[in-house]
Amino acid sequence: MNPAEWLARAAQHTPEAPALLQGTAVIADYAGFAQRVAGIAAAFADAFQLAAGKRVAIFMKNDAAYLEALYAIWHAGLVAVPINAKLHPREAAWILQDADTRLVLASPDLASDLKAALRDADLTSCQLLEAPGPAFDRLREHAPAGPPAPMVRDTLIWLFYTSGTTGRPKGVMLSAGNIAAMAYTYFIDVDAVHGTDTALYAAPLSHGAGLYSVMHVLRGARHAIPPSGGFDAAEILALAPQLCDVHLFAAPTMVRRLVDGARASGSSGEGIRTIVYGGGPMYRADIVEAVAVMGPRFVQIYGQGESPMTITALSRAAVADREHPRWRERLASVGRAQSCVDVRVVGENRQLLGPGETGEVEVRGATVMLGYWQNPGATARTMRDGWLATGDLGFLDADGFLTLVDRSKDMIISGGTNIYPREIEEVLLEHPSVHEAAVIGRPHADWGEEVVAFITPAAGASFDPGALDRHCLERIARFKRPKAYFTLGRLPKNNYGKILKTELRRILAEHDGDGGSRS
Ligand code: AMP
Repeated sequence: MNPAEWLARAAQHTPEAPALLQGTAVIADYAGFAQRVAGIAAAFADAFQLAAGKRVAIFMKNDAAYLEALYAIWHAGLVAVPINAKLHPREAAWILQDADTRLVLASPDLASDLKAALRDADLTSCQLLEAPGPAFDRLREHAPAGPPAPMVRDTLIWLFYTSGTTGRPKGVMLSAGNIAAMAYTYFIDVDAVHGTDTALYAAPLSHGAGLYSVMHVLRGARHAIPPSGGFDAAEILALAPQLCDVHLFAAPTMVRRLVDGARASGSSGEGIRTIVYGGGPMYRADIVEAVAVMGPRFVQIYGQGESPMTITALSRAAVADREHPRWRERLASVGRAQSCVDVRVVGENRQLLGPGETGEVEVRGATVMLGYWQNPGATARTMRDGWLATGDLGFLDADGFLTLVDRSKDMIISGGTNIYPREIEEVLLEHPSVHEAAVIGRPHADWGEEVVAFITPAAGASFDPGALDRHCLERIARFKRPKAYFTLGRLPKNNYGKILKTELRRILAEHDGDGGSRS
């Protein structure tokens, strides 16, 4: 199923329904959206000589033209290579080369640096087109292509490079079938979408937010780009009441900013129907506060580039129902398996583990990727007998709720005992002087590793390692408490807001001994 076919059908069914909005201003209805897409798709084939299956990259900030480009790529049977606009042009050039990309659409303010990076990399086979811009406008006016290119389940349509918190990113190959399954499962496990709803794209379209456009095209809903083109809590809170039933994808750090903004302005998020959060750990203290300030607007998803947005979901009711006897426990979980996948937890020899036993999470089903682009070694290491090894550690409870304890590579082993940094971070975050916390292991001659913590202090709070130590001793086993604390103005994060523990390890190696070590 070609997602561009859903756009063509929405245009047939509700041609005058608003489709693309810049802020609250409608810039195209569904007939107009589909017509632009068909024009651009024809230009890809005629002017750029791109045959089905070729890769076209999008290195753009959020913009309505992003969605036009994406659906035109699909209409023409091409493969979209979304690249985070915050990447360094050299990183983008590396992806363009790896994916053997023939054309890249780049935002005007990113284009000249990217051009230079393409020159430096001697990448002459990849053409660059500014979008939006006059040349892109001309593509829209091209005589429209015929119907969307036919696709089968395994047709590659989205080649997404992993965020790469370690090493070079890998190209995750997602098929038309993967994306369709993700969309159907959303309606079952996450939320309903109606033609009058609005998807508001405050998170990068190159990631989950862009994939979520599919559900909204499928239902003929509105697609709004905030004028800032990014995540601005005040802007979202001001826009939402003017738009219809807003859906928003937000990473946990964004939820936190939104909640702070709502509290500061006395808003409770009017106009927002659903905030889907995920992509990284949401600390329990944060989501409890989010629901207290903004009400039952939150649904959690747990997914990976390799099984996009679709491993488990924690429903709106499970997030908000304080009366449920296991509410707090479930809030710390990522919910239950989404309908189109099997989820299991396995031990070191891949034996199936029972409820409460911690091991690696594996997933199998219709959303799981085809494999890594031109990387059979990495594919074989990650896909085992049809199961995708997520690299996440967690346990299932008897009711099927999955709790993630950490990434396997972040686990600390001290004196032969496994310590999950996330548990300690949760405890540190409960202390009023702590704004953000990240825990890693430091090599130790006797114990193998010992626990150290990086803290960013809360505004106006003073840093008192003794107080934090007492706080930890009251809540967790002695051996788990940090043996040293370090403060940072801010924690290093990647472009998706994920804390870069590799970077913290590097900082630790360079500055060890400067912190408030007690041992
Ligand atoms: P990415 O492939 O860049 O989207 O990263 C996926 C990883 O983010 C997963 O393997 C998890 O480690 C983490 N992640 C995604 N969703 C959640 C969630 N809801 N809670 C905790 N971690 C998550």
